Amino acid sequence: MTDCIFCRIARGEIPAKIVAQDDDLVAFHDLGPQAPVHVLVIPRKHIPTANDIGQEDGALLGRIWTRIPAIAAELGIASVGYRVVNNCLAPAGQSVFHLHFHLLGGRVMGWPPG
Ligand code: 5GP
Ligand code: ZN
Repeated sequence: MTDCIFCRIARGEIPAKIVAQDDDLVAFHDLGPQAPVHVLVIPRKHIPTANDIGQEDGALLGRIWTRIPAIAAELGIASVGYRVVNNCLAPAGQSVFHLHFHLLGGRVMGWPPG
């Protein structure tokens, strides 16, 4: 058991505005939204960064990705488009070291992301 902030959210020890959860994942609204819809999708399993995804995590990541379009649909952004982002390590913008996917939508997105 870790005291990582996202592990604590997954265990219900820290409140979050949860939009979906199952045995594999928890999805909750980001505290500092960067778009009208900004939800974080995390595995319950503590995986620090994308670099730490192992062969044994393949099925888990597949199930999480299978859920993301359904979560986007529940949030009303599936048909208008959305962006899914993972920041891996601090230079790429990672600030919480528990693997997470930002699900962003509700506005037009620029590219490159910067
Ligand atoms: P990162 O910078 O690691 O890619 O993304 C971490 C995200 O977690 C940030 O967008 C930040 O706003 C969000 N965040 C950090 N702490 C909390 C928290 O305690 N609750 C929620 N809901 N979001 C958080
Ligand atoms: Zn964690």
